[in-house]
Amino acid sequence: MTASGAGCNIVLIGFTATGKTHVAPLVAAALGWDVFDTDAEVTRRTGRPISQIFEQDGEPAFRRMETEALHSAARRSNFVICAGGGTVTSPENQALMHKAGIVVLLEARPETILARLKRDLANGGAVRPLLEGPDPLKRITELKQERQRHYATGDWTVHTDELTPGEAAQEVVRGWRYWSRRRCGGRPTGSDGPAAIVTTATQSYPVFVGWDILEDIGARMSARGLHGRAFVVSDETVAALYGERMARFLNDSGFESRSSALAPGEAAKNLGSVSWVYDFLVAQHAERSDTLVAFGGGVVGDTAGFAAATFNRGLCLVQAPTTLVGMVDSSIGGKVGVDHPQGKNLIGAFYQPSLVLSDAQLLTTLPRRELSAGYAEVAKHGLIADAAYFSFIENNADRLMALSQDEVVETVSRSVSIKADVVSRDERETEGLRTLLNYGHTIGHGIEAAAGYGKYLHGEAVAVGMVGAALLSHRLGLVGREVVERQCSLFERLGLPVACAGVRKAEVLKAMKLDKKVKTGSIRWVLLQDVGKAVVRPDVPSHDVEAVLNQLGMG
Ligand code: NAD
Ligand code: MG
Repeated sequence: MTASGAGCNIVLIGFTATGKTHVAPLVAAALGWDVFDTDAEVTRRTGRPISQIFEQDGEPAFRRMETEALHSAARRSNFVICAGGGTVTSPENQALMHKAGIVVLLEARPETILARLKRDLANGGAVRPLLEGPDPLKRITELKQERQRHYATGDWTVHTDELTPGEAAQEVVRGWRYWSRRRCGGRPTGSDGPAAIVTTATQSYPVFVGWDILEDIGARMSARGLHGRAFVVSDETVAALYGERMARFLNDSGFESRSSALAPGEAAKNLGSVSWVYDFLVAQHAERSDTLVAFGGGVVGDTAGFAAATFNRGLCLVQAPTTLVGMVDSSIGGKVGVDHPQGKNLIGAFYQPSLVLSDAQLLTTLPRRELSAGYAEVAKHGLIADAAYFSFIENNADRLMALSQDEVVETVSRSVSIKADVVSRDERETEGLRTLLNYGHTIGHGIEAAAGYGKYLHGEAVAVGMVGAALLSHRLGLVGREVVERQCSLFERLGLPVACAGVRKAEVLKAMKLDKKVKTGSIRWVLLQDVGKAVVRPDVPSHDVEAVLNQLGMG
């Protein structure tokens, strides 16, 4: 199913006067969709009002036309399909509706229905057959009861009695979001909105997150106004696993694509690789209207992103991350660059992509250690910004490690929106807001440098660093001991270290002092005030820091 494929609709069913015609346009407006009304379609096709069709051709003929209209609706996408009150009674129609999308039932009590019909009549509406006869309420109640078992086939019910049409529309959208995720195998449907929008001084771009959404990439690019050719840069591991699929999806949506792959791993994050990407682009006669698709982990995102930033003074860039670190961290915020032999990330730029598309299904092939390292950054987001999110991660740690679809998509989406929010408010780390994302990184960077790059993955070193920062927060009286413990027990469940015996304390201290986050001579510590609330403290006594490093098991 692609972004423009069939099956991504909302079908509204329900008895007369449950609000379908009022609610449908509001739902459509909320989602940027259109309305498809089966009654209106039959009228349009036949050029006759429904009452006339009933009179001249009989009800069975009308029902056949209605089914035809539903067939045509089911082939569409991004429509709020308003099904006539009796449509739902035929099993064929029911099947068509479920094929067309998520079926939402609008409900109302017979008394409400009667009151609405009367109000409608008083406002000049046509007389409904239901109002004729001696006891309209009884008639409504009976007919509704007859149809109830059919109505019960809906995926989601909204009781409209006490709701305004606007409130009912919101409930419909809520049901649709819930079901589209489940129905489409955990992936938001192609028409689902972005998980976040990053807004910076230079650009504003969407971040799409879902399960099995890679095939949407071409449609997403077109929707962002990208066209021309797509140059995919990945690493050899990613290319072997997914390169062919990526090329096919791009070609299928009209992008002529060419691919190249770096060697996997941090060692490739250097100017030599950038130069190699330039050579590839030159050989392909890349132009500024073309797009570079960075398809891989953070190494590819940073390196290819830097090449895109500088080649021909800037090619359009799409980030399609394939690691958890890439999805929740490196693809968002526009930091691109490479390492210098004298230091990590020494050469770089800020360069925002046109869009980010994260297909969490790709994580199923990621080595466990890399997955855990990504969860360190995820847990960090909860710790610094969102206590409820931290609890969610605690409650779902095992499912997250097992890559359970719904929980993983929700987690990546929530992390993306936290990171997007922070960088949107502080693109260039000037206000200290973005500094909060460095929670755990002061000690973490020290550990990476002291242990020799490569011994610990960045996320592992940061996990230990976060434990250190929490211990420090506790020593300074900012948080209780239980905050440290919650962190440690979560990290263990996520396969992350909480101490690092064997790393030399003196080396860590030395590296910490050299770290680029040193400003005006003192280290700016990111500490916790509570789960979900971080603060920057420049005034941490060095004996406290040393004590904490001892607690982490350093010798
Ligand atoms: P990575 O790019 O090296 O990927 C890790 C490993 O996983 C590699 O061997 C890769 O080939 C493999 N891999 C990638 N996707 C896979 C998949 N779907 N299935 C199987 N294997 C797969 O590492 P990373 O952790 O993604 O990124 C780390 C880099 O990101 C560092 O260089 C770091 O500096 C950078 N980074 C940048 C930012 C930023 O803001 N720009 C933020 C965080 C990290
Ligand atoms: Mg980090």
